[in-house]
Amino acid sequence: MQIMLCAISNIASGNCSEDCKYCTQSAYVKTDIQKYRRKEISQIILEAKIAKKNEALGFCLVTAGLGLDDEKLEYVCEAAMAVKKEVPDLLLIACNGMASVEQLKELKKAGIFSYNHNLETSKEFFPQICTTHTWESRFQTNLNAKEAGLMLCCGGIYGMGESFEDRISLRKSLQELQPFSSPINFFIANDNLNLKAPKLDADEALKIISDTKEALPQTVIMVAGGREIVLGERQYEIFKAGASAIVIGDYLTTKGEEPSRDIVELKKMGFTFASQCH
Ligand code: SF4
Repeated sequence: MQIMLCAISNIASGNCSEDCKYCTQSAYVKTDIQKYRRKEISQIILEAKIAKKNEALGFCLVTAGLGLDDEKLEYVCEAAMAVKKEVPDLLLIACNGMASVEQLKELKKAGIFSYNHNLETSKEFFPQICTTHTWESRFQTNLNAKEAGLMLCCGGIYGMGESFEDRISLRKSLQELQPFSSPINFFIANDNLNLKAPKLDADEALKIISDTKEALPQTVIMVAGGREIVLGERQYEIFKAGASAIVIGDYLTTKGEEPSRDIVELKKMGFTFASQCH
């Protein structure tokens, strides 16, 4: 079995106008994260080269904030074209919040393969974790990405206090979108965040993965943030549960597993690394 590895580059960090309660990049919470309006293009290229060396196929350019404006769009396009030129084998993903069809077409022209915009949770539970934008606007951006001809990467965060029914509802919405890939994040509480929820246990986390795969059999299920903390020594059981992709290296604002350990463990399990998406 082939595993797809994706790396993330947080190219514009923090100071976000939105109040998503799970996010340390929100200006509503006090944090000690690094904040910057743009990362140097040379640094992004360096990270892309490291990702490639670590067997990544996907490389995601993430910006904090509600969505794209002209300046941000230009910057993401500039970064995408620079990475494409230097590391042409990487599949580029953009994750830049709300976006119109026209903006998403510009990203596609710049070499972006897929757009990541998570629904995060069910339509019903979303107002409890964010009040500054709507779940519907998130759903619409996913429709826009499809209309623009981009592949879709759309998933959510679990363990924020949502009910079992909320998880079913989120999966139903994902079924409507039929994303190419679907990230599963596990919420990790942080003293600076107002959202308090107990850590998921490993069995529950693995069940979330298998339920998601069952609901989305054609979708690449990717395990992202929280893998190491929630699953610990059981983290490589995710593949038996239905995952076929992981985020390697660090997440947006938190440390991840050492890529070298992931690579060793995956090879020991007999997996190879995807070098193309189909
Ligand atoms: S919009 Fe994105 S960056 Fe801003 S607070 Fe929400 S999740 Fe964080």
